[in-house]
Amino acid sequence: EHCINQIAAGEVVERPLSVVKELVENALDAGARKIDISVEGGGTALIRVKDDGAGILAEDLRLAVLPHATSKISAITDLDDLRTLGFRGEALPSIASVSKLSIMTRTPDDVAGQELKVEGGTFLSMTEIGCPPGTVVTVNDLFYNTPARHKFLRSAVTEFGWISDMVGRLSLARPDVAFSLRHPNNILLHTPGNGSLIEAIAAVSGNDAARKMLPISYQDESLEISGYVSMPEHVRSSRSGLTFFVNGRVIRSQLMNQAIKDGYHTLIPANTYPVCVISLNLPPSDYDVNVHPAKLEIKFKEEKNLSRKIAEVIRKNLLDGVPMRRY
Ligand code: ADP
Ligand code: MG
Repeated sequence: EHCINQIAAGEVVERPLSVVKELVENALDAGARKIDISVEGGGTALIRVKDDGAGILAEDLRLAVLPHATSKISAITDLDDLRTLGFRGEALPSIASVSKLSIMTRTPDDVAGQELKVEGGTFLSMTEIGCPPGTVVTVNDLFYNTPARHKFLRSAVTEFGWISDMVGRLSLARPDVAFSLRHPNNILLHTPGNGSLIEAIAAVSGNDAARKMLPISYQDESLEISGYVSMPEHVRSSRSGLTFFVNGRVIRSQLMNQAIKDGYHTLIPANTYPVCVISLNLPPSDYDVNVHPAKLEIKFKEEKNLSRKIAEVIRKNLLDGVPMRRY
């Protein structure tokens, strides 16, 4: 059974970045307002995610690390109306099977907390402890029992770079949540969590980048587009500044990359990309996120209309905002 879990784990837990993303999404699903992340050794030595969310009931804690123990869907039809980030109950069991995991958790109603320890998918202990309400998940020695996967990783610096990029994106998705990212002796990111997206952008990308952004917004019955896009003179030579959210979920989308380029057409030099943070809110039935286990890729049902709308909204806001030079 452990073998099967380790194979399944490969799909959800590809690298340290995926662990961080899954743990942060769980914290968000639990209603956290403050999430503190610590990473050592590019994530293979330590990943710790601490939240002040709802916590896990003592009787549910063991179940949470067993396969398919999700509390988030009661019937398969719920998948069409998905509002939480997690939904398959695969993340914790997968992470538990390829690491030394501990979960310390307490609900606000319980007087004491619980600490559960699992090693390579094997239950070690569960003990009562004192702790504040919320959850701390500590992942040590990631991939210690799957050498093939461990060998596949890049340098600690590269892995950490991917983590910090993702934490930046996650914190922009939720400006109402205070995020911090720590590396030994170093706080690398700290967002205020006061609900202001532009202040979160300033915390992630710097005040200078934030000053060069213009707000965008659009709303009809079934679609809301909001966020910030950079003024056309502020461009990058790569797509690294493109950040997209769909109903609060960080996604990658070729379609949206292209829609952005269309919105800036002739306003920026070819082969350059703006910086943007764009949120779409639309009914979950208008797209499918279950196309990839890491849930990063998204498939929209009305692709053409959507990309035309995004390009239009960006362009209108750009042209209204500042006098333009054409390329
Ligand atoms: P999923 O998120 O798909 O439901 P996970 O394996 O990520 O599955 O988590 C399993 C369950 O453990 C969740 O459904 C949730 O009930 C609980 N859980 C995990 N992390 C947290 C957390 N940080 N706070 C509260 N509950 C959590
Ligand atoms: Mg989850």
